[in-house]
Amino acid sequence: MQLTQWKSESSCSRIIRVMDAHVKQLSIEDLSSVVRELGIPRFRADQILSWLYNKGVGSYDEMTNLPRSMREQLDTAYPLYCPSIVDRQTSMDGSVKYLLKFQDGALAETVALPSPDGRLSVCVSSQSGCAMACAFCATGKAGLTRDLYPGEIVDQLLSVQSDFDERITNVVVMGQGEPFANYDNVIDALRIINHPKYLNIGARHITVSTCGIIKGIERLSSEPEQFTLAISLHSAEQAVRDELMPMMKQQNLSNLKTSLVEYTQKTNRRFSFEYALMSGINDSQKALDALKGYCKGLLCHVNLIPLNEIPSSPFKPVSAQTMEEWKTSLEHSGIPASVRKSRGSDIAGACGQLAATARFDK
Ligand code: SAH
Repeated sequence: MQLTQWKSESSCSRIIRVMDAHVKQLSIEDLSSVVRELGIPRFRADQILSWLYNKGVGSYDEMTNLPRSMREQLDTAYPLYCPSIVDRQTSMDGSVKYLLKFQDGALAETVALPSPDGRLSVCVSSQSGCAMACAFCATGKAGLTRDLYPGEIVDQLLSVQSDFDERITNVVVMGQGEPFANYDNVIDALRIINHPKYLNIGARHITVSTCGIIKGIERLSSEPEQFTLAISLHSAEQAVRDELMPMMKQQNLSNLKTSLVEYTQKTNRRFSFEYALMSGINDSQKALDALKGYCKGLLCHVNLIPLNEIPSSPFKPVSAQTMEEWKTSLEHSGIPASVRKSRGSDIAGACGQLAATARFDK
């Protein structure tokens, strides 16, 4: 009961039901408050967080610098669950897709993308499934199971880190889910990921991708950390975008642009537009002109994405030549552009292919 009250008093939008409470639901600040409520000295919160997110332990029993009675108290009040890896597939290009199952049966996918230059990027999910229903994306087809909690987002990285036995250098929140539909949990997770004592990944190496939720863009621009923003645009023509991304109809291109102008003015940081080229849909000269017009006045970069095929989808990719032509044309107009190399498509681990949302029996 106490935590419920405390959560509402602190005008936090998330009300945690005490019966189901567990430690991976908590942010760094939440954990300090919980520790205080339980009558545990403050410095213990740091120790607990360090065990959870630096050493990545799987139980309170492994927190050997905490007294046994304290470990038992914590285990009763805020049990510690870790996801299990229920599937692991390696792509021919070296990327690895993990299917993680949380204690309530919710599933989420995580993709590790090692590069020859030694970087290890990881694509994490912010939700189990997704409610956005973009027409060309497999994740949206199955709908939303639930939001992921901060520790569940961080655990995806810890799972990859221990599997690779390598430090993660970059994080992209581009897996299942819409991060700005789960804003608080995502930001709380990013703070743990960014924190020097935990994963210590620089904010500029952490990218959050949104389908264009304006409130989230505004909030991100006010955060003290310099997290990188990516916007899934896919069309700068309203009617086309409405077809492709039906849930974004209310947050139209004109309002989106206003929020991006403000974002640019406020942060002075470059963001990127993601644009998956689809044959006969958003690849015309008119579409290209609309995109160029839309980029005017924005400090942006356009990432052209080859459309990844998903089963029974009517959407088809364009040729590699068309992608290059778009890149060149954008650059000639002074808009920085790149063609993203698709990775992991042979294991359905590429953008838009993360579809495993069915719930397992516990
Ligand atoms: N919901 C967020 C985070 C998901 S990121 C967002 O929309 O940005 C996943 C990226 O892959 C998004 O840019 C999404 O639009 C893109 N995508 C979805 N389906 C795709 C497909 N079939 N091929 C290529 N990219 C796709």
